Amino acid sequence: MHEVGIMNQALEMALDAAEREGASRITRMRLRIGAMAGVVPEALEFAFDVVTRETLAEGAVFEWEEVPVRCACANGCPDFEPEGPVFLCPVCGTASWNVLQGRELNLVDIEIES
Ligand SMILES: [Zn+2]
Repeated sequence: MHEVGIMNQALEMALDAAEREGASRITRMRLRIGAMAGVVPEALEFAFDVVTRETLAEGAVFEWEEVPVRCACANGCPDFEPEGPVFLCPVCGTASWNVLQGRELNLVDIEIES
């Protein structure tokens, strides 16, 4: 289940930030996750519970939003949000490998108690 790996990375970022602030507890975490990560929401929430156990973030509220995939077309068509696993430009039908967004794993915000 690769959601565990994703959550581990996110937790590491959150713990770093919390430690810098001298926090004793993380009460809320907010993430942005690119659609290319292909996470299953239920699995992500389960992974959050698992990886935060016995850390500063145990019991924290977990929120996340998915960032849609956006591609640029090599032929100069407008940027587009592909549908399906192959990123075909809807204007000229060329497959695009130039992914502008959708790979993110960003920690947007944490709330802490000191
Ligand atoms: Zn195109």
